[in-house]
Amino acid sequence: MRFGELADAYARLESTKKRLEMRAILVELLRPLRPPELSRVLYLSQGMLRPEYEGVELGVADSLARKAVALATHTKDTEVARQTKSTGDLGTTVGQLLEEQHRLESDEPLTVAHVYGELERIAVAKGEGSQDVKVQVLTTLLGRATPVEAKFLVRFVLGTLRVGVRELTILDALTEVYAEGSKAGRTRIEAAFNLSSDLGLVAAALVEGGVEALEKIGLEVGRPIRPMLAEREPSLEAVLERMHGKAAVEYKYDGLRVQAHIARDRSVRLFSRRLEETSAQFPELVADLPHAVRSLPAIVEGEVVPIDLETDEIQPFQEVSRRRGRKHDLQKAQEEIPVCVFLFDVLLAGGEPVYEKDLAERRALLESILRPTERVRLATQRTVTTAEEALAFLDEAVAAGGEGLMAKSVAPGSGYRAGARGYWWIKYKRDYTVGLTDSIDGVVVGAFQGRGRRAGKFGAFLLAVYDPKRDRFESFCKVGSGFDDAALAEMPKRLHPFLTAEKPPEVDTSAAPDQWLRPGLVLEVRGAELTLSPVHPAGLGAVRAGVGLALRFPRFTGRIREEKGPTDATTSLELVHMYRSQVRQASEEKPETVGESG
Ligand code: AMP
Repeated sequence: MRFGELADAYARLESTKKRLEMRAILVELLRPLRPPELSRVLYLSQGMLRPEYEGVELGVADSLARKAVALATHTKDTEVARQTKSTGDLGTTVGQLLEEQHRLESDEPLTVAHVYGELERIAVAKGEGSQDVKVQVLTTLLGRATPVEAKFLVRFVLGTLRVGVRELTILDALTEVYAEGSKAGRTRIEAAFNLSSDLGLVAAALVEGGVEALEKIGLEVGRPIRPMLAEREPSLEAVLERMHGKAAVEYKYDGLRVQAHIARDRSVRLFSRRLEETSAQFPELVADLPHAVRSLPAIVEGEVVPIDLETDEIQPFQEVSRRRGRKHDLQKAQEEIPVCVFLFDVLLAGGEPVYEKDLAERRALLESILRPTERVRLATQRTVTTAEEALAFLDEAVAAGGEGLMAKSVAPGSGYRAGARGYWWIKYKRDYTVGLTDSIDGVVVGAFQGRGRRAGKFGAFLLAVYDPKRDRFESFCKVGSGFDDAALAEMPKRLHPFLTAEKPPEVDTSAAPDQWLRPGLVLEVRGAELTLSPVHPAGLGAVRAGVGLALRFPRFTGRIREEKGPTDATTSLELVHMYRSQVRQASEEKPETVGESG
């Protein structure tokens, strides 16, 4: 396939927001492709070279790409920089420069295979002289590219390619091509993706043998499974009702989720909730896990929390986050901030997949294969049948340093649902009982210039929730309080990768920030209550037609949710649920204040 065809498809994808149209473009693009080209096109279209969990990075900084653009277009570096300031994007700049130079397709057009191979060369170039190699490879590629090709190439290497091709849309397109768009086909394709976290692998199986061939995709040690997620309910009564009167309740530990893959040779790889490898961050767990877990190879899941090894007390989460990015001082960090993991699930044991087994069976297995150590422990669990029992357990969990409880279904069919958020698991935090003190994870989509002491800096930020159905980010508040000087000073650096000149197409808001930001950074905020809002479109129309939801008196908790990507933020639907549970609580006291319609 010529690279130009791919670039043309990107141009068309970029010009539409309609999911159906996007799917049609993708279907047309993917249908004729075969592996390995098919897998490559899928990775490339998501801005990656390999499945996300492999963490392959190109390591191309703005300045490096600018240099290559300058060389390839015979333009001065300063001129490229000047133009980029006005276009807001180096990709657009290189496209324009080549247009002006009437760059035509070369005699030897670029192919996807060639471009992919060259990008791999850029990715593997490490150490001394690697910068020169990267510049040279990129310059040569740009030297042969048409304006449109160059535009998308530059965006790709800078990690700013965003043509709206999310996993969901790709799954839709694959279903269309390989399962005649059937619902059953879609379910199986999605299930294979949730188990493998690798769209390229799923697509290759589909080409080989259609939906039937997906059966071959099982669990593999070293390849993360997309984690099962929890829903929420406003009261413990509601939780019990959902669980048909019987639930396994566990402490909800407040830390970082890990999925531990322990191979037969005792090597260990840890993955975060976002499937990023975190092994290097927790060497003591890597060392302990193969001793604690007896039936190898195994895949287990748990929550890592800081712990005082002398008193056995769980410490506040903030302690663990201090260990992030401290590669050099890891030894020191390990001593100062010890962690342990509380295991709560097992997906593979003795090489056998067990994720489909009901919860009680998985728990019994976990208990039987685990020989707890100081670092590797078992999550506390109990079976309850009434809200009173659950409340007593909640008190216990909170007293022990947990943030609430996790209720898990023990009904038949309570197997592990990879990648799914549902009522099989329900999280319940202590503070649900006292109005809206639950926190919200909001994505930064804009920033406002500060005043007074904050003049010349960003003083407040526009936050959005995510709507997975529409794949859009909807604003719900502007937050300025809760940032101390250090936090505020750090924000420009944190936000730099997401700066953009224009309102990102995937953002819905009628607010007008001084600086737009592509959805990337997730902040935890709390507020007094959720109110109906004419300005913020979060959950638009869910409560009342034409009206969204806003958070009153928002306050940054000090916690940047580094482990969450923009689409892991609180969803619009969760916000609507939080609003409703608030209304319900108010209505229990004062029935006349119910403000819902429909
Ligand atoms: P949240 O991040 O608020 O959506 O809550 C879900 C998270 O709670 C999971 O992803 C885990 O990281 C964490 N967690 C803590 N304790 C447990 C537990 N016992 N079972 C499952 N998840 C838990």
